[in-house]
Amino acid sequence: MDYASSLLSFLPGGRRSPGISQLIAKLEGYLPPEQVERIQEAYELANESHRGQKRLTGEAYITHPVAVAGILADLHLDGQTICAALLHDVIEDTPTAKDEILARFGREVAELVDGVSKLDKVQFKSRKEAQAESFRKMILAMVRDIRVIMVKLADRTHNMRTLGAMPAPKRRRIALETLDIYAPIANRLGIHSIKLELEELGFRALYPQRYKVLERELRKSRGNQKEFLPKITSNILGALKKAALNGQVDSREKHLYSIYQKMRRKRVALSDVIDVYGIRVVVDTVDGCYRALGLVHGLYKPMPGRFKDYIAIPRLNGYQSLHTTLFGPNGVPLEIQIRTEDMHRLAENGIAAHWQYKVGEDTGTSQHERAREWLASLMQMQEGGNPEEFLESVKVDLFPDKVYVFTPKGDILRLPRGATCVDFAYAVHTDVGRRCVAAKIDRRLVPLRTALRNGQTVEVITAKGATPNPAWSNFVVTAKARASIRAYLKTMKRGEAVDLGRRLVNQALGEFKLNLKGIEPEILIAAARALGTKEPEDLFEKVGLGERLAPLVARHLLPADRHEETQDGTAGTTAPLAIAGTEGLVVSYARCCFPIPYDPIIAFLSTGRGVVIHRARCGNLAGWHKQPDKWLPVSWQKAEERSFASEIKVEVQNRPGVLAAIASAIAATETNIGHLSVVERDSDTSTITFELQVGDRAHLAKVIRAIRSMPEVLSVERTLA
Ligand code: MN
Repeated sequence: MDYASSLLSFLPGGRRSPGISQLIAKLEGYLPPEQVERIQEAYELANESHRGQKRLTGEAYITHPVAVAGILADLHLDGQTICAALLHDVIEDTPTAKDEILARFGREVAELVDGVSKLDKVQFKSRKEAQAESFRKMILAMVRDIRVIMVKLADRTHNMRTLGAMPAPKRRRIALETLDIYAPIANRLGIHSIKLELEELGFRALYPQRYKVLERELRKSRGNQKEFLPKITSNILGALKKAALNGQVDSREKHLYSIYQKMRRKRVALSDVIDVYGIRVVVDTVDGCYRALGLVHGLYKPMPGRFKDYIAIPRLNGYQSLHTTLFGPNGVPLEIQIRTEDMHRLAENGIAAHWQYKVGEDTGTSQHERAREWLASLMQMQEGGNPEEFLESVKVDLFPDKVYVFTPKGDILRLPRGATCVDFAYAVHTDVGRRCVAAKIDRRLVPLRTALRNGQTVEVITAKGATPNPAWSNFVVTAKARASIRAYLKTMKRGEAVDLGRRLVNQALGEFKLNLKGIEPEILIAAARALGTKEPEDLFEKVGLGERLAPLVARHLLPADRHEETQDGTAGTTAPLAIAGTEGLVVSYARCCFPIPYDPIIAFLSTGRGVVIHRARCGNLAGWHKQPDKWLPVSWQKAEERSFASEIKVEVQNRPGVLAAIASAIAATETNIGHLSVVERDSDTSTITFELQVGDRAHLAKVIRAIRSMPEVLSVERTLA
């Protein structure tokens, strides 16, 4: 009794899929018994989960995963991949399945199954070429383990084989997606057998008429070729033998979809594509390939310009062979491919060859290492070509540093990894970015800073008059978003600086009982030039940013006969500049003394930052009084509805719960705590520092009163440098 049937006879009853015994037999051919046993368990779980389900073809559902596993077994893929293939549709059906797979088959199998389920959720929507390319990349970007793609390709292959049961529109959509997305991916990964089958099945489903015509013609031409092919084959074999070269010669199958593509691409007649003999020669060594080439060139005359050396310069997916075209019998072209056994295996299986089970293999090799191995082997072969360009194209596909997301219309946008909703908004259009106020991912509202993941659908909500938030620069990753936000802030800042500068100059003019309205434009322009700026606006901006001093500018604006007034130093009274707290980017509040509305204040003109407001009692003023011309009097305008940061220090007795008690006392005054820190002074007392958000002095006084009345509080005071 062989292993498969012995195992079967011990398994519990229940209906078994008809394909399972063949699958087991295939697996026994290359996998060790313990792995086959695991696969049996996976089959049992799948069989259980799909019990009672039917496919559209009328067969039991379990026949599908068994067939998918069979396709991968033909590629000799490892046990984990086969388990995942059997379980690939289980998660959809039972929500607890993922945990069960994890517990019973380990993390890798669980992640493979999960990866395939996720791929099933994204759908290709538009047929544009660029869109198809992006979609292929999105598919590849979504998988961390390339085996997910292999399961998906096998899944698609079996679905295409049984496509006939689907309703026509769905059939077309699936066929289109297969030709545009999955066959090219199989090609990119070099899995030739799957690529060919997907193409043939996709072509037949999408263009049944064209397929029928081509098939008939192909059958005819095969009939014609029957006469000559055996003769050509034996001629070549004879030549190899005479030269003591070991090799096999086969006639090559022609594939309808590639014939069709060639006709369309090269705009040639069917007869030109179809009336060609295709021969493949497989020899033992690379050296043998070139010798065989010489031999066939001796047998038939080569067509000039048709020889290609893909051994020295392999194709991007690693394909290697010598290609040549000869004048065959009756002048019919004879296309010859010459390669070694190794090249042949790679030409058929591509990247799958790296996940094939090999006896005595260390199973610890990670999938990343495998993929890297594959890349490295491609790199080695590619030495004749342009390695950078090559590596770039492969890397983009296999180790993507991009995310691919959908717009609500189904267009795909490519963004760098880590990109957020704001980056997305700017990628759609600068105006969308500038006015975005909220975002939805897969129809759920999310914070704008949320990082995007592959395959998500992102919708941006904009509002008229909305403006970029300076805080966005902390999390955006795209250059476009960053530059747009920065440019906006710069113009904003300039506008505010010009405004502040104008007010500062006006204030300085007050000392001479003048104001800007009374100054002639020519005088203003002359002063701007004299002070090294182009326009009065530029001059005001510099004043607002603290780079020019308002009193100095004011002096330049005086009528000639009043210049001496400045000389004697008997200046008039300067009205303080009014601060409303809404000036934004050119007015800031010092964090050494935390001024709040109605504190006595003074402003320091800080170069590049505009004015910084300090409390009049701030200790930092002493040192800065060395630059008296940089200080200016300011006062509070009626405060707007906004809060200001203020800091208090509270000395308390160390007692359990004291911090919570104070925090809740603060909360009771409807005050937010921005930050707090505790420093233990000694075993009895601690100092707690609170940063609070308050409206003005009255508000803060209320908070301080509330805290001071608490028995465990020893003292409360505002921070002052
Ligand atoms: Mn499936």
